Amino acid sequence: MTLTVSASTDIAPAATAGRKRGFCPSLASPMPTGDGLLVRLRPARIGLKPADYVAIARLAAAYGNGLLEVTARGNLQIRGLREETVPKLAAGLAEAEIDFHRGVAVETPPLSGIDPDEIADSEPLAAAIRAAIATHLPPPLVLAPKLSIVVDAGGTLGLSDMVADIRLDAIRRSGGLCWRLSVGGDSCSAREVAAVADGDAVSAVLAVLEVLHGLGPAARGRDLDAEALRSQLGSRACPAGLGDKMIPPSPSRPVGRHRLGEGTALGVGLAYGQTSAAALERLMRGLAALGADEVRLAPHRSLIVLGLADAAIEPGIALAEREGFWTRADGPGNAIAVCAGSAGCASGRFDTKAAADLLVAQAPDLLDGSLTVHISGCAKGCAHPRAAALTLAGQGNGVALAIDARAGDEMGATVRVDGLGEALARIGALIRQERQQTNTARRALDRIGASTLAKAFRQGSQ
Ligand code: SF4
Repeated sequence: MTLTVSASTDIAPAATAGRKRGFCPSLASPMPTGDGLLVRLRPARIGLKPADYVAIARLAAAYGNGLLEVTARGNLQIRGLREETVPKLAAGLAEAEIDFHRGVAVETPPLSGIDPDEIADSEPLAAAIRAAIATHLPPPLVLAPKLSIVVDAGGTLGLSDMVADIRLDAIRRSGGLCWRLSVGGDSCSAREVAAVADGDAVSAVLAVLEVLHGLGPAARGRDLDAEALRSQLGSRACPAGLGDKMIPPSPSRPVGRHRLGEGTALGVGLAYGQTSAAALERLMRGLAALGADEVRLAPHRSLIVLGLADAAIEPGIALAEREGFWTRADGPGNAIAVCAGSAGCASGRFDTKAAADLLVAQAPDLLDGSLTVHISGCAKGCAHPRAAALTLAGQGNGVALAIDARAGDEMGATVRVDGLGEALARIGALIRQERQQTNTARRALDRIGASTLAKAFRQGSQ
């Protein structure tokens, strides 16, 4: 496998050049990236037909650079657009009758409505919240662009591990369905506000949104005073109260097979969250031929395929693997966040996906799921804006390494791109040795420490 260096030529169309992280890149407001404009879309229907994905893939190839992504939160991204092609993409999607949500993201588990293990269907409440926000007058709510609300009624692929500004987690009470309202975190870390009856959930969320509106357009869940909200929402509280804090089980990863009563849902992952338009089109045509009638976007950069008969599951898995999709929930690549890199982005200093494949081959003991490795084509860090346990980022003509850092932070050690394979092999050997004493890669990394790791990484490269 060859790693190539490429020169940096950032593309930033004039009308969008000033846009910074924090905006939500919709069709109306695409985001400039190293490979042109990016739009992030959440379909208005929870599931689309395979033919819809074929239409989307063709539009991405015609008007973008042919790269599509599914994000960690289960949104669809189309890359490589230009100012003049975004309206054509929007027109093409409208012509194909594929509509997308606008405004505040209200997220639900991907198996909502069909999961025998869910407490309730999350979608009707999510739809009611979206409608209430859209029609809120006066005044219209002005909220942070990246604000998110999670409505999680649990089940096989519940969203307990998804961080949100406002969460509603379903709980069963003797009097019926209630929702645990909390703010600023995942289901364990969010601060609890109240348990509200099902019929009061929309007005309770709106009350929290009005507080956020009052705090200003950048206010997020972490800025809320949970105690004050508790007093404010007291009249809407479920009589049975919050009860003991529940620690929900970690939800399953979407990739793999999920039994749904009589049928089976098949989860497939996009390799490093990305696919080509051609591969997506071939996958969808093949799945439709096997009997698939619906495909849902899912968190953890994956798709859930519905409608396959049991006899079609194995052929579906073989098809997905042929097209480069992942079909194992525990695949080592799941622990790596990768951006487009030089293969798809003008700012990329090296081929990030080739580097990720090298890491899988050279350092499998690092990829046990206990930590995230971020491989970034440049310091912008599109694939993982937060700090990652281990980051490799393009810098000058080399690749730099750092522990517990973001791609834009000061890095610890650098190697030339053509020496990256050997550097990763040295890191792999170090981790392998340390894993003989420790259970997890995270603990092994902590024991090795930044300076020893940096020394091994750059050894022989100077
Ligand atoms: S982080 Fe990756 S995708 Fe983002 S601008 Fe840099 S190379 Fe391009």
